[in-house]
Amino acid sequence: MKKLIILGSTGSIGTQALDIARANPDKYTIVGLAAGSNAELLEKQAREFGVKAVALFDTKAADELKIKLADTNIKVFCGADGVCELAMLDCDVVLNAIVGIAGLRPTLCAIDAGHTIALANKETLVTGGEIVNRKLKEKGVELLPVDSEHSAIFQSLQGAPKGSLKKILLTASGGPFFGKTREELQNVTVKEALAHPNWSMGAKITIDSASLMNKGLEVIEAVHLFGVPASQIEVLVHRQSILHSAVELSDGAVIAQLGTPDMKLPIQYALTYPGRDMCFEQLDLFKVGSLTFERPDCGTFKLLPLCIEAINHGGLYPTAINGANEESVKLFLEGKIKFLQIAELNEKAMNLCENKKDFTVEDIFAADEAARQIVRKAVL
Ligand code: NDP
Ligand code: MG
Repeated sequence: MKKLIILGSTGSIGTQALDIARANPDKYTIVGLAAGSNAELLEKQAREFGVKAVALFDTKAADELKIKLADTNIKVFCGADGVCELAMLDCDVVLNAIVGIAGLRPTLCAIDAGHTIALANKETLVTGGEIVNRKLKEKGVELLPVDSEHSAIFQSLQGAPKGSLKKILLTASGGPFFGKTREELQNVTVKEALAHPNWSMGAKITIDSASLMNKGLEVIEAVHLFGVPASQIEVLVHRQSILHSAVELSDGAVIAQLGTPDMKLPIQYALTYPGRDMCFEQLDLFKVGSLTFERPDCGTFKLLPLCIEAINHGGLYPTAINGANEESVKLFLEGKIKFLQIAELNEKAMNLCENKKDFTVEDIFAADEAARQIVRKAVL
């Protein structure tokens, strides 16, 4: 029995992780669950899986949840500190599926507690990659990628000799706006941006996929996970989302992982690694027919090259562009800015970033807030 804590259990990744646990009651015990403000679903999940504790970031919602769960022994933690406390409870694996930089502190706390991390929350590594890697080493803790591309890279590297990785081939679906010109993107709507052709995901990452910011964040994530510079990462647009990424090794061998566009496999692999478990959806290559690869249009989708610039600068630049993006995506979803303004605002905030090479977690949150304020001031 593996004891799991799931952070972000009410979201797209979180609910799919619970589907895996539901299908394998003999393999997983859910110890704790955390979310932002969705008390209703969290209550349902807590009762179904008989957890020891839950946490809600929103303190008002947490108070409501305490009342709802008064007839049980389930402990309710509240606020950002409460999510961190929950992440430190006794368990084997913490799956972090929180969205945004809000996932950074819980990851650090879970590492402090010595728990293996299954990481979906890419913003953890984008903002705090150096600090996280130092802490993992210090504590001797393992961090396993859940993001499908990084899981594919990780799977492709199993058995590859140390030092043999030459290049990462990071695939991108291209999102709903692939092939469109800047002109055509002027007036795209929220609904159009949310209509991802292959993947069903939370709203924020779906918008990031439409703008290619997601691929930019994933380049930064890969730099921290696999210890290669951005210059050794090539982004390929692969419209079918079947080849989830590949590695090129020193002898020219290219090794890839393929599968249907379903997050259950990468989530499950992070929970069972190095073992393998049940299949949720089989890949039929005859049905797929052909796989295609194209170069991304970095002139139209500027956030991909901007993220590469951010990681090449290093320091707090990735935090600045990430913080600006969280804010501008929120404004876009609220209908307050246009799609192309996301990139403009992110670029502006990144260029105004006061960089630091040796930085602390506090510096990260200060840079995040500064970038958000630049975006808010430019719009409101
Ligand atoms: P969702 O928006 O669907 O879910 C986000 C989850 O985080 C919800 O449970 C939400 O709770 C919770 N949450 C939000 N803010 C806080 C907070 N401050 N403290 C605690 N919990 C919080 O996102 P996804 O599941 O799509 O994505 C989660 C992460 O995984 C992201 O970093 C994303 O980039 C990454 N990822 C997602 C993929 C996918 O297929 N969805 C693929 C690869 C990576 P509530 O419901 O109460 O708001
Ligand atoms: Mg991904």
